[in-house]
Amino acid sequence: EPRIAYIRDTVTSIQDYPKPGIIFRDITSTLADAKALHLILDLLTERYQDKGLTQIAGIEARGFIFAAALADRLNCGVTLVRKQGKLPRAVHSQAYSLEYGNDTLELHKDALSSTDKVLLVDDLLATGGTMCAAAELVQRTQAEVIEAAFLIELTGLPGRQRIEQSGVPCYAICAYD
Ligand code: IMP
Repeated sequence: EPRIAYIRDTVTSIQDYPKPGIIFRDITSTLADAKALHLILDLLTERYQDKGLTQIAGIEARGFIFAAALADRLNCGVTLVRKQGKLPRAVHSQAYSLEYGNDTLELHKDALSSTDKVLLVDDLLATGGTMCAAAELVQRTQAEVIEAAFLIELTGLPGRQRIEQSGVPCYAICAYD
């Protein structure tokens, strides 16, 4: 698919960031490329336009960018899954483990309800811990998670398996080892 090849070429790979041995996939160069951004939204719109989605849930912070743009294309609302302490009203909280230590994601309790069909969106799938926590939060509102979508999937890590094992389908536009 030439559109995917174009998008993939706009991602910048940084060796040894944030620490030795890690290749960081930087999407700021993708976001800055108007054609790449357009193609990403075309691909996501084609995939999700007939799924009856009501809300696009973006994960802080880069997930917000894609969630907002896609929601406008699909005529959906945007739901924010945020880091701990950022949302002002009653929240569901879900802790998850990082390589070093833990973090917590939150969602307003009244952000979603049982009539919502939700697409979760983030920029990159690594271990899947972040997305599993986000899916858990959405499910606690009784809303239905339709899929978890990413710009990039790191296939050398078991993130996809982890998400799919939790019963959530998974889609990524581009993959890296
Ligand atoms: P996971 O929870 O291990 O799947 O990590 C995914 C989260 O970490 C996402 O929110 C990403 O934004 C971020 N992340 C991890 N590695 C990278 C990377 O190489 N580039 C950009 N973001 C990354």
